[in-house]
Amino acid sequence: MDLSYTPEQQAFRAEVRAWLEAHVPAEPLEHFDATRGGFEAHREWERTLKSGDWGMVTWPKEYGGRGLDLIEWLIFEEEYYRAGAPGRVNQNGIFLLGPTLIEFGTPEQKQRFLPPMASGEEIWAQAWSEPQAGSDLAGVRATAVRDGDEYVLNGHKIWSSRAVFADWAFGLFREPGTERHKGMSLIFFPLDAPGVTVNAIRKINGHVGFAEIFLEDVRVPAFNRLGDEGQGWHICMATAGFERGLMLRSPARYQVAAAALAGLWQDHKQDADPVLEADVVRAFMNADAYALSIYQTASRLMAGAKIGPEASTNKIFWSELDIHLHQTALSILGPKAELVVQPGEHDWLDDYIFALAGPIYAGSNEIQRNIIAERMLGLPR
Ligand SMILES: Cc1cc2nc3c(=O)[nH]c(=O)nc-3n(C[C@H](O)[C@H](O)[C@H](O)COP(=O)(O)OP(=O)(O)OC[C@H]3O[C@@H](n4cnc5c(N)ncnc54)[C@H](O)[C@@H]3O)c2cc1C
Repeated sequence: MDLSYTPEQQAFRAEVRAWLEAHVPAEPLEHFDATRGGFEAHREWERTLKSGDWGMVTWPKEYGGRGLDLIEWLIFEEEYYRAGAPGRVNQNGIFLLGPTLIEFGTPEQKQRFLPPMASGEEIWAQAWSEPQAGSDLAGVRATAVRDGDEYVLNGHKIWSSRAVFADWAFGLFREPGTERHKGMSLIFFPLDAPGVTVNAIRKINGHVGFAEIFLEDVRVPAFNRLGDEGQGWHICMATAGFERGLMLRSPARYQVAAAALAGLWQDHKQDADPVLEADVVRAFMNADAYALSIYQTASRLMAGAKIGPEASTNKIFWSELDIHLHQTALSILGPKAELVVQPGEHDWLDDYIFALAGPIYAGSNEIQRNIIAERMLGLPR
């Protein structure tokens, strides 16, 4: 994709590229969800990123960022994926909670939480879902009771990515006696606090970072509440906008995967069904279409717009693109897709299995379609 960048943007790209070429580990790291060792290796990589001030380029300098704009962030992401740099173990922190803290946090909260997030010293998990509250997040039952300068937290959270190894979680709790969207607060708690029990949920690929969390009379300072008491729903919808709309899945991820798919096709087309070429082209074009759409969204946000329900269209697009792209790779490989991959080789099967979760996490695609129907198309509930 050839966009016309300014000389300053081109110079920035060259700077990112040079730094990554000098610093990206030669050997791929063990996955951060697989073992404590893999997780800590990724934390170390976050420290290395921070040593070059690349932790989160859009954040203000005083909080560990570079004060750059969203277009520069997209350029950074393109170079990051192009270089094959390690996955961001603190993605829940830097991409979801970070922008929310910048919008809703007090100066003291930003100073306390953002710099260690940018450097990987504190890695975050998201603790919103509960056994009876996933799609229907307003059904959250975990409670926060105010006791002087503290909150006492109780409840059961589930499907919390990386919570087995992470340091902190941002959770959604309600004042007892309140219902639905009223009386909720977003509160941070350390995952090693007395009263917190974290149980691993093993994934189909054997990874153990995923977890359920039990909270029994967990005490945290009232300082750990983001925004006003009872404003939790409003705040977590802003976080969900960052998650679905722009930050969590930047287009470069899919453009690099689509380029790898084109390479796979070149290597295997002699043995593959010729009709698959159309799927390869479609995946490639969809990855570029997603990138163009995100550049447009970034430009609108930089002009002062807020991300709205169109974040739901993005989420459906990237999750369906990811599945189609990986399904195409498996069709090209045929039974060979089942073979164990060598270190450094693309693991199409493992990535396909993860892609299957895309229509579920960050809010299921059925729910995104409901949001589009009601809030963009004005259809009845
Ligand atoms: C890989 C992965 C990582 C995750 N990470 C986190 C995390 O870090 N933190 C966290 O808090 N949560 C996380 N989740 C949880 C995720 O947000 C929920 O799984 C998701 O919101 C769906 O909720 P549920 O699982 O309770 O399913 P349900 O809400 O029980 O939904 C079941 C099915 O019914 C459909 N459905 C439900 N209501 C409606 C409706 N009104 N209209 C149409 N269809 C409907 C859903 O689309 C779905 O297909 C993760 C999930 C996955 C798979």
